[in-house]
Amino acid sequence: THLITMNQPPLITLPEHARRVVSQLEDHGFEAYVVGGCVRDSLLGDEPKDWDVCTNATPEQVLRVFRRRPVIKTGLKHGTVTVLEQRRPVEVTTYRIDGDYVDNRHPESVSFVGNITEDLARRDFTINAMAYSPKRGLVDAFGGQEDLARGLIRCVGEPDARFQEDGLRILRALRFAGRYDFAIEAETAYAIRRNRLLLENISAERLFSELKGILCGRGASAMLRGFPEVFAVFMPEIAPCIGFEQHNPYHLYDVWTHTALAVQAIAPEPVLRLAMLMHDLGKPACFTQDARGVGHFHGHPQKSAEAAAAILARLKSDNATRSAVVTLVEHHDDALPTTRAGMCRLIGKLGEQRVRQLFEVKKADNAAQSPYAQERNREPLLEARCLFEEVLEQHGAFRIGDLALNGRDLISIGLRPGPAIGRILAALLAEVQDGALANTQEALAARSRALIAEEENS
Ligand code: ATP
Ligand code: MG
Repeated sequence: THLITMNQPPLITLPEHARRVVSQLEDHGFEAYVVGGCVRDSLLGDEPKDWDVCTNATPEQVLRVFRRRPVIKTGLKHGTVTVLEQRRPVEVTTYRIDGDYVDNRHPESVSFVGNITEDLARRDFTINAMAYSPKRGLVDAFGGQEDLARGLIRCVGEPDARFQEDGLRILRALRFAGRYDFAIEAETAYAIRRNRLLLENISAERLFSELKGILCGRGASAMLRGFPEVFAVFMPEIAPCIGFEQHNPYHLYDVWTHTALAVQAIAPEPVLRLAMLMHDLGKPACFTQDARGVGHFHGHPQKSAEAAAAILARLKSDNATRSAVVTLVEHHDDALPTTRAGMCRLIGKLGEQRVRQLFEVKKADNAAQSPYAQERNREPLLEARCLFEEVLEQHGAFRIGDLALNGRDLISIGLRPGPAIGRILAALLAEVQDGALANTQEALAARSRALIAEEENS
């Protein structure tokens, strides 16, 4: 027999800028690897967002190696230097372990360590704890590759201890599982539930950003259904929805299961997914049963909108997101207009973009209901969408500003400045939307003269 030696193909192809940072450190006699998210994403066949490097060089040594390049001393005391290579930033971090954690979130200090495996051991999950260098190959001391292949999120080390060090990891676990539609390994999952109250120590901004990340994943519904009590720690409004039976022919599922399915049924954009998460929060408080035992939820959109506004304020949401989500929740159950005038008024009130989003919300809500409800709602929704496109194509008048005549025109016709101007413009808009009046300067001017005469006579 004889040995056949084959060159192993590289597991991961580094982009030029990252390859150069690694090789310059190596050329100066240090070890260097790309590490963390970029290794995970490459092994999954996804394009990494950014490439992080770790090294046994101290921050001072890193600064010396890259003295001819622009560097940013990002987090020097945590061992991180950002190097601009070919104008692209690469974070270079010295192998380190974290000291004791204060407030379940921030390590009190960090210490630099001599080898890569110790550095990998401080990282959160096995799939995030791998390093790779073209020269040294893959370092996978905790079974990250195997967990990637099996689709598992598993803590590095003892799950309880790891969540107690840093409570944010609870939501990071759900986010990575949601993003890749992975399962959470049993011990890690128990520890997430047991330690969920640690989320009380996490800042609103972090909670909100992780929440959006979880909701926008492919496995969002599995996370919402599997870990409702975790979400309820910072959104107690969801607790009454869990297991709340609806007792009507439109629904097969309890409120929370319906919610989770509705989240998954809409495009993965934060506003839309947040709207689905919150659209039925008001249901338990509005529940009534009629003589035949059928469940009703009169007024729930308003209650849900109030809950959404409260949650988003607590999570310090930006105003644009909050107002969009609250509007969508408030209107999610409205009957859609069936006339051109009604559609014009709706577009005038909410704006074109929000109405488009409202259709998406209604479609997703419907997709998570019973087949009977789906059947009943399909046609009206389709017809409303056609009407919407038609009205837009014809440049209908949606707001007073869309009229071919304005307040100054009214004054030049002879109306005295004052509140009558607004009244007449609103009347003109209503008539244009009803199709009773053409949106042209002549037609509007003629009609205004009549309306002004009426105003003066009354
Ligand atoms: P993303 O694609 O979301 O950026 P990522 O894995 O790059 O994913 P980062 O938050 O950028 O995530 O962190 C980079 C790496 O640092 C992670 O892969 C992980 O190894 C480590 N890490 C980040 N946050 C923590 C944490 N809270 N606890 C332990 N390790 C962490
Ligand atoms: Mg990253």
